[in-house]
Amino acid sequence: MTTPSKTKKNDVFDDSVYETMLDDAFDKLPLKHTENSRFEIPNVKGHLEGNKTIISNFLQIAKTFERDPQQLLKYILRELATPGFLNPNGSVVLGSKVSASRINEKIKQYFELFVKCPECGKPDTELKKERGVYVMSCKACGAQHTVKYH
Ligand SMILES: [Zn+2]
Repeated sequence: MTTPSKTKKNDVFDDSVYETMLDDAFDKLPLKHTENSRFEIPNVKGHLEGNKTIISNFLQIAKTFERDPQQLLKYILRELATPGFLNPNGSVVLGSKVSASRINEKIKQYFELFVKCPECGKPDTELKKERGVYVMSCKACGAQHTVKYH
């Protein structure tokens, strides 16, 4: 009759929570991308599998950013200091347990660094590698910036 006591697990993946989030996401989906609505950085969806972390919507995140998934992955892996790889089905497998909030934080950092134009703040940018340096050019305002990341 006793319900198992709920352990505090707001910092780990929780399937039920993720399912709820999925439902919410679908409810809100009818693309309300109006011109002046702020660009939204997608939250990672995923779960733990033993000692691994699966990010199921990784390709979608890269697509939203219009960035090379491999480059995004490289950044995330390096920042999280964990091994990992991209599955052909579009999910990413991290070789350790990483909380959703930490991954989201890194995704946000990547966005600030590699996607958002520092000049006008819009995400409509292109990223090119020139002589080993990432150069971001903004399609909205035309600004060009070197991304400082080593
Ligand atoms: Zn710009």
